[in-house]
Amino acid sequence: MFAAPVEFLKGVVAMSGMPPADRIEVCFAGRSNVGKSSLINALTGRKNLARASNTPGRTQEINFFTTQDGPYLVDLPGYGFAQAPVPVVKKWQELLRAYLAGRPTLRRVFVLIDSRHGVKAVDEEILSLLDRSAVTFQVVLTKADKINAKDHEALFQQVSNALAKHPAAHPEIILTSSDKGVGIETLRAIIAGLD
Ligand code: GDP
Repeated sequence: MFAAPVEFLKGVVAMSGMPPADRIEVCFAGRSNVGKSSLINALTGRKNLARASNTPGRTQEINFFTTQDGPYLVDLPGYGFAQAPVPVVKKWQELLRAYLAGRPTLRRVFVLIDSRHGVKAVDEEILSLLDRSAVTFQVVLTKADKINAKDHEALFQQVSNALAKHPAAHPEIILTSSDKGVGIETLRAIIAGLD
């Protein structure tokens, strides 16, 4: 899965800049610091692959990574950046909306949620956007190693409750730790099973 080379292809700032929709793609969304780069790196087995998405200037682009004979992996950098000027936020939201609603080959959006925090108000922003698009989304809990196993059930309950309001949500919640390699194979298998 994701046999080398996995490469950064391009950062897209407008729908006109999208690469050809010639293969399926999955995308990863999450607020900054949720562990998205670490997860993409763990999935692909490439250290620092996703660092490009976190550099200034790339944070308002939709970043495409190619995999050998596999789907595009698409990184949606940190949503909900409250500090950005209003026109910048508006432009980003418009691009996001257009992408999520209008990309025929987009098969699933993985919404990353920090295991320590659960679904927060800032996450609801992307969830409601996803409700209005035609794509299934699935929650991936990150940094599972930072919470106790005894707290897993309460976390799953909180996330399930939050997802109940969202018809586009996939019911399976995936618990991961990029640091410990937890859930990475599961996530790979889910991606490999999409067509
Ligand atoms: P991004 O901003 O969403 O791309 O987040 P990063 O992948 O850069 O991670 C943010 C911080 O969380 C970094 O300090 C990572 O080392 C840490 N982090 C990411 N994943 C994990 C994990 O699975 N376990 C732990 N303990 N820390 C993690």
